[in-house]
Amino acid sequence: MYSYYDLRVDIQYLTSMGADLLYIGNTVLGRPIPALHIGDYSPNQILIQGSVHAREHITSQLIVELIYYTLRTQGTDFGGGGMYFVPMVNIDGVMLCQFGLAEAPSSLHEFLLGINGGSDDFSLWKANINAVDINTNFPARWGTGVQNVFSPAPSDYVGPYPASEPETRALMDITLRVYPRLTISYHARGQEIYWQFYQQEPNLSRDRAIGQVFSELTTYALIDGTLGSAGGYKDWCIQDFFIPAYTFEIVDASYPYPIDYIALEEDWELNKLVPITALNQAKAVFC
Ligand SMILES: [Zn+2]
Repeated sequence: MYSYYDLRVDIQYLTSMGADLLYIGNTVLGRPIPALHIGDYSPNQILIQGSVHAREHITSQLIVELIYYTLRTQGTDFGGGGMYFVPMVNIDGVMLCQFGLAEAPSSLHEFLLGINGGSDDFSLWKANINAVDINTNFPARWGTGVQNVFSPAPSDYVGPYPASEPETRALMDITLRVYPRLTISYHARGQEIYWQFYQQEPNLSRDRAIGQVFSELTTYALIDGTLGSAGGYKDWCIQDFFIPAYTFEIVDASYPYPIDYIALEEDWELNKLVPITALNQAKAVFC
């Protein structure tokens, strides 16, 4: 199980290997959200993020291993371009998921237990500590998703208004600051890639073609249509930046939650070339 503590140790190693560390904001509980950058700071940037959903913390370990692998095999010179990684966006939610109420302030215990049906097992929790689902909180057709709910819940609550949550705003801020040319959001599970959110031609064909490259690389199925998605980070990137943006659902759908980390052995192999492939795709599109 990969925790915020593990991430902080890995950050020490990764920065000693040449990664730059920055903080993109703070969680509801004031935990700084780290990001790592490798490569140069030319306009060719991509952004990869994970653990927007708490119970999908396996994606944080995947992203950290992708940074190690990319540094070891490519160094920090990609012939132009750089990569931002935000391995764990929803730190408070991940901590709640992994350690239960011990990692939440006592003033919130009654609220959290009430939302969780009285159970102190939070291992299936997806939301942040306010019980808002960050991946429904972005200002992209906010509140229109088919699974949206409108009061605090372990998942699918859109929040009181768009971008109400500091974790949402942290991802928006870094995106507005670096203007990435491609983004990938790691979720779990299903071994699928989502790419569509009302984009028009010529971007529709462009984004589908890059999605096919990722699908061939990872063997994940490329899923057409929005499937009732709204308010997600990928949705917001496509809507406001007109860039190719993808949600990768790692891990075979047969794994139950909480996902056994043994699943990472297969999905790591399938994803190890995703960052460099993503950067090369972004460079080819925007050269
Ligand atoms: Zn998810």
